[in-house]
Amino acid sequence: MTVTHNLPPVKIGPITDHPFISHQLEMQGKPSKVKSLCEEAIKNGYYECTWLCYNRGTKYLAQGIPILSEIEGFEAHNLRRALGWWKRVSLRSPVKVKIVKMHFLEPKSIKEVEVMVLPDDSSSKIEGIRTWLKEYSMEAQCSAGYDENGTFHPCQSGSSCKNRVMGGNEEYPQFYCSLEYYHELRLRKRRLECRDAMLEFYWNSRGRSDFQTFLRESGLITSYSNLKTTHYLDAADRYGESIPALLLIDGWHIKRLLIMICFAVLISLVVTVLAAAVGQSIDTGLTAGSYTLALVAIFIATLSFFSAIL
Ligand SMILES: [Zn+2]
Repeated sequence: MTVTHNLPPVKIGPITDHPFISHQLEMQGKPSKVKSLCEEAIKNGYYECTWLCYNRGTKYLAQGIPILSEIEGFEAHNLRRALGWWKRVSLRSPVKVKIVKMHFLEPKSIKEVEVMVLPDDSSSKIEGIRTWLKEYSMEAQCSAGYDENGTFHPCQSGSSCKNRVMGGNEEYPQFYCSLEYYHELRLRKRRLECRDAMLEFYWNSRGRSDFQTFLRESGLITSYSNLKTTHYLDAADRYGESIPALLLIDGWHIKRLLIMICFAVLISLVVTVLAAAVGQSIDTGLTAGSYTLALVAIFIATLSFFSAIL
């Protein structure tokens, strides 16, 4: 259970970077580019997912990794598996992961969508929140806040709270306690400040099962039903809304390559010795050994070539 669960749903206050709107608008709006993909996922019993982007040739593709429940064991390094067996044996495969934003361009299959990847700049968001927090002045002290155990206590005063303000829009006005919002923003700012470092930590460590909680707190888990439609300005933009996503960054595995070269040398040595022993001649041994080395070298070269282009 995280603190955010105690907070009211994200309000459309002065600062909000939440790209999704409430469920009451779910059925309205323009169909999004991933409508059929989302419907298929819902039909298969999935409710939420994390979007994973990766480079394929000159294009960026993305697929939704379904979140099955708060399962233990869903770890950052498991994301590599989404790319199939080739990326696991390839000499060039994901070495890093980054938080980005993406726009859907065109569905490629029932699982994959071509996307446009945009940088997700947390420093400008942090700056925006910092400005808001600095300018905030509360009317009166109310009960909203954290206790020494880090548990959040929502405002108890209800409609009589002096900090009550109106947010949302004219059609859907939302009243909320601004002190609650102040605390929510403070927490959001702290999470943004250590977000990238935390992601790197999860990527490099195995046995950390709270990765899913991190994804949720960072806004990286989105629901399929919210993605079926786009609304307002997002609907006017032909690329639709920006979705927070994880981007896998490829790199060369020099260590794997060195291990393979060591093996090649070892195998050819063994073959040389064996062939020399069997054939009772050092020449036979050397010939067999050099043929083996050549074959293994061709194999390594082929693997490197396909690793580079696929
Ligand atoms: Zn209050």
